[in-house]
Amino acid sequence: MTVVQDPSQWQAPAWLDAATRAAMMAAAQAARLQAHVPYSHFQVGAAVLDEHGQIHPGCNVENAAYPQGVCAEGGAISAMVLAGGRQIRAVLVVGDAPSWVTPCGGCRQKIREFAGHDTPILLANPQGWQATLTLEQLLPHSFGPDHLV
Ligand SMILES: [Zn+2]
Repeated sequence: MTVVQDPSQWQAPAWLDAATRAAMMAAAQAARLQAHVPYSHFQVGAAVLDEHGQIHPGCNVENAAYPQGVCAEGGAISAMVLAGGRQIRAVLVVGDAPSWVTPCGGCRQKIREFAGHDTPILLANPQGWQATLTLEQLLPHSFGPDHLV
């Protein structure tokens, strides 16, 4: 299957400046190298930017009981919550694959718990930033905390 990649959608929003993007990339790249992936050998790193401007990294951690493994994004979100963050301003995911490495379906929902529809999700490979999508593009018509008020 060919992924439709519209270059007009690859740009990060203006408020997410280059320095912050670079810091998120560095955090995610460093986290990726710590991944515990003895089964898939597929290292993923993530970085979550919270409402305080803090960046929280995460890496995937596999388990011999396969379903017990956790994704990089989930680890980053746990770190954010532990540090007091409750709003996700941006997410960066880095993995090494021929096409974009996007958050899995479960992680899209985990991000949704703390993020708005227009939250940018930056996709990168080890060579650099590739594209930016919004959470709405990745998880349209989503269910979230606003449904439970
Ligand atoms: Zn995931």
